[in-house]
Amino acid sequence: MHSPTLINCIHILKDLVSYDVLGGQSNLSIVDYIIKYLNERDIEYHLVPNKDLNKASIHCRIGPSAVGGIILSGHTDVVPVEGQDWHTHPFTLTEKDNKLYGRGSCDMKGFLACCLASVDLFKNAGLKKPVYFAFSYDEEIGCLAGPELAAAINNHYKMKPEFAIIGEPSMMKPVIGQKGICVLETTVYGSAGHSSRIRQEVSAIHVAAKLITWLEDKMDQMIMDGRMDKRFYPPHTSLHVGMIKGGIAPNVIADKCTFYWDVRVIPQDDILTIIHDFDIYCKDVENDLKLRYADTRIVTEQHHPPVPPLGTEETSEIVPLIKKISGSTELSTVAYAAEAGQFANEGFKTVVCGPGDIAQAHRANEFIDIDQMDQCLKMMFNLATEFSQ
Ligand SMILES: [Zn+2]
Repeated sequence: MHSPTLINCIHILKDLVSYDVLGGQSNLSIVDYIIKYLNERDIEYHLVPNKDLNKASIHCRIGPSAVGGIILSGHTDVVPVEGQDWHTHPFTLTEKDNKLYGRGSCDMKGFLACCLASVDLFKNAGLKKPVYFAFSYDEEIGCLAGPELAAAINNHYKMKPEFAIIGEPSMMKPVIGQKGICVLETTVYGSAGHSSRIRQEVSAIHVAAKLITWLEDKMDQMIMDGRMDKRFYPPHTSLHVGMIKGGIAPNVIADKCTFYWDVRVIPQDDILTIIHDFDIYCKDVENDLKLRYADTRIVTEQHHPPVPPLGTEETSEIVPLIKKISGSTELSTVAYAAEAGQFANEGFKTVVCGPGDIAQAHRANEFIDIDQMDQCLKMMFNLATEFSQ
């Protein structure tokens, strides 16, 4: 038997899942739903729109304007379903064997539903410290809205929140560390010609191969320098090239070659420093080759601004709080990236803790266990109790 709160929460999740807002698309439909929900409960909300005014993050405070308090944060967008073998309609929440199937059920509308289902609880709890909601957009295409949303909260409220929980799926286990990430593409422009002229032309493929080797050597060098964080696997920053395109025939020197790569950093490493080192190397290579072919160029572009890592210390004040309210004392780290580091950069003591299993995210037949929703609602209840003392 489900409790009335859980039934209400599943109902909200059903509504949220029905909005098929993908990363990159306008999220105003789902934001309107949230606005209506908050309006009906007399909660004052604030929007942080994008430049084109077709997307918005939303934040609100429940409880008094007081020092401290906690942000509950999640994203409203989901990843596409194209090419995936779904057995139910991905945007119709379907219950089967105590699981709720649907795109975003786990990542991460389940958490949003738990937040919204707890509005009345927070309103009536006599909170002494406030609870904030912070819901973003475009998380799935590079955590694009997180920094602006976190900054907006800092600027908007006179009394700042102290803590933040990002409700990404973690099976309700507190996560204190996440790697940061940046996805990049590098294009080498060389000169075409007969393959016998390899000494006169600049092969974009050969240059790309050199640059790729540099990236792997850089990763190895950082390990040799002892830049390790045992909490992660692998315990070091990783550099990886996942795709390469170039050339038209074995006997034609390629005038263009592009490779796509990512860098995933442990909290003590800095993405921009690594990219900067790579750029310096590319400039050196380019300058050398310009002597042979003046139009040689190497161009690197970031697909999105770097997403910072999360490196919350075990001594942080949020650790005892999250252990207490989540009921889980086991701290962990995860390899996937999210908005947590962006909230931490704004000065909020941040952890990731949310319902569902990340293994279910982004795949066909994504689901969330109803039991996980129940556990998350319990965390909300414990939070209300804790903050009303
Ligand atoms: Zn997510």
